[in-house]
Amino acid sequence: MPQTVALIVAAGRGSRMPGESPKQYQDLCGRTILRHALEAFVIHPDITDIRAVIHPEDANRYVAATRGLTLAPPVIGGKTRQESVHNGLAALASGTAPEQVLIHDSARPFVSLALIDRVIGALSTADGAIPTLPVNDTVKRAAEGRIAATLDREGLHLAQTPQGFCFPALLEAHNRAAADRSVSYTDDASIAEAAGLHVAAVDGDVANIKITHVDDMSRAAAWLRGERETRVGSGFDVHAFGPGDAVRLCGVDIPHDRALDGHSDADVALHALTDAILGALGDGDIGSHFPPSDLQWRGKDSMHFLAHAADLLRTRNGALVHADLTIICEHPNIGPHREAMCTRVAEALAVDRNRISVKATTTEGLGFTGRAEGIAAQASATISIKVGR
Ligand code: MG
Repeated sequence: MPQTVALIVAAGRGSRMPGESPKQYQDLCGRTILRHALEAFVIHPDITDIRAVIHPEDANRYVAATRGLTLAPPVIGGKTRQESVHNGLAALASGTAPEQVLIHDSARPFVSLALIDRVIGALSTADGAIPTLPVNDTVKRAAEGRIAATLDREGLHLAQTPQGFCFPALLEAHNRAAADRSVSYTDDASIAEAAGLHVAAVDGDVANIKITHVDDMSRAAAWLRGERETRVGSGFDVHAFGPGDAVRLCGVDIPHDRALDGHSDADVALHALTDAILGALGDGDIGSHFPPSDLQWRGKDSMHFLAHAADLLRTRNGALVHADLTIICEHPNIGPHREAMCTRVAEALAVDRNRISVKATTTEGLGFTGRAEGIAAQASATISIKVGR
């Protein structure tokens, strides 16, 4: 899997939005706009690292907005968006440079996992990929309250973010653009296009709005707000032991004299947890979302299944309140790995560590777990979700 870093551009001052803080640090139903955007990349299993580019005056705001999230240190931006992205790319290049980079505006809080998937997917055959939406309204040129012309909208598209690129190619294009001060660019695709790179278009998402004006903020808040309810879902799963030297539980590999058998990586704990979240959403089970008959899930990291459930929760405006997992086996001993498992799950779901519980029990030598034929796991997930969603 290529190393893919998400660069979140959050250095702007948002002059079109009133308020004490720049818009990305304003509250949108309990979380800053920036945090909404960051969480989408935190839960995406193919994103290796996340870095924000911030304004030098926002260091304290950034720390407060990102508490509890696992992120690389922020980069200080420049005077323009183009300069800020260039600073971010330069910072990435000074470490172990990634193979791919996704650049996202922090003012787009509703980016979905599926949209990120489409952009990353298109990078296998193009230098760059951006989400776009066709222009459906008639387009006019106007000045001083008077229509000057009606433009042909045929072939016109609106560009969104995240915009994905092959990292070395974009860095070179940005270096070149920085050297030529006669042209300034409003997005990274135009810099890539100017450098002759092949930029693909993938389907954008109408929900992936950019919050620019006060009206956008109130629309977004109205969409998020509303009466909420608490739901609880449960999940249960079993996998049998097979040959191997480690079992994977909650994404942590625990040395053992056997492994768990299964179509995916057989992470029985994550399967139970994924089912518990899907159960709370009333949205089928892990088998209906990822059929075992589908070869693409063979050997798959189960974090993908958990991330899918987390994204369904997020895009339906829900939040995980608490998850409680019980692992049932005689061996291996879970205790020494409990903290790592809790931390891994909390990071994957972008929630505080104290919202995740992992427990273990034996069955006193009784039944299939007692005979050490396999491991069972059960989970409950408590979610908060808008009524009617
Ligand atoms: Mg399973």
